[in-house]
Amino acid sequence: MLKGKNALVTGSTRGLGEATAKVLASEGCNVMLNGFGDADEIETLRAGMEAEFGVSVRYHDADLADAAQIDALVDETVAAFGSVDILVNNAVIRYFHRIDNFDRDDWNHALAVNLTAPFILTQRVLPGMRAKEWGRIVNISSVLGLSGQTGRADYVTTKTALIGLTRATAAETSDSLNITCNAINPGSVLTPNSEKFVNQLAEEKGISFDAAAEEYLLRRRQPGGFVLPERAGKLIAFLCQDSSFDITGTSIPIDHGRSGTWLQDRTAPD
Ligand code: NAD
Repeated sequence: MLKGKNALVTGSTRGLGEATAKVLASEGCNVMLNGFGDADEIETLRAGMEAEFGVSVRYHDADLADAAQIDALVDETVAAFGSVDILVNNAVIRYFHRIDNFDRDDWNHALAVNLTAPFILTQRVLPGMRAKEWGRIVNISSVLGLSGQTGRADYVTTKTALIGLTRATAAETSDSLNITCNAINPGSVLTPNSEKFVNQLAEEKGISFDAAAEEYLLRRRQPGGFVLPERAGKLIAFLCQDSSFDITGTSIPIDHGRSGTWLQDRTAPD
């Protein structure tokens, strides 16, 4: 359990971040939500979490592309809860261009949100974690942090670099203080983002959502099904436990074996 810990989860207004925020709240964490979306829906989420889990839940609308707003997000979390004990770097922006046509502003924006923001947030929360001799940082990478993919240079690059930031942070915290930094590498997770692509495929092919989901996952060599956001949230919460103190500097796939079996010949006999 994580009772009384204070967590900041970026990009937690939907998808994997929202699920992670809820798992952490269910374990007794106070949570600072962040991300974009409809103000009424975010307030319903925030108030609902407080009512369901009996913890304090706040929301800050910082745009992580802006360093001053990142500072304000950290300052407000510390003002509200007293500390940031758990940082989950989850927010993401995705562009879909081949390198030849990649707009430089889009590239810089992706780097700012997906990589520089986690760096600044890590830099800002580490002193407080050192002072309390307790801290957990989890960076949300991807299976595309382990492999290239056409048309995804921003994503592949930033998700790979997050694994490097994870190792560098672990190196600088691997003394006797109880601070860890790990990454997770999800395969395809059922979030509004992937649902949008499955719906597009269903429409293009005139097939059901389930049939399109099966094809979407087969194309990605993940035939075992989508990773559910709650399961990724539970892995993140596991990494935040006291008992996970020995685990640091790792990146852990959660992908139905996708990254561990990519050389498998699926037509070969057993
Ligand atoms: P999503 O697109 O559904 O949500 C992204 C969140 O980030 C939203 O809350 C959004 O408001 C927020 N955000 C975007 N730009 C922001 C900015 N400038 N400032 C603050 N917040 C911002 O994403 P998701 O599918 O839930 O993915 C969450 C994480 O999991 C990401 O890091 C993603 O790379 C990773 N991941 C997802 C999948 C998947 O299949 N969905 C697979 C592997 C890894």
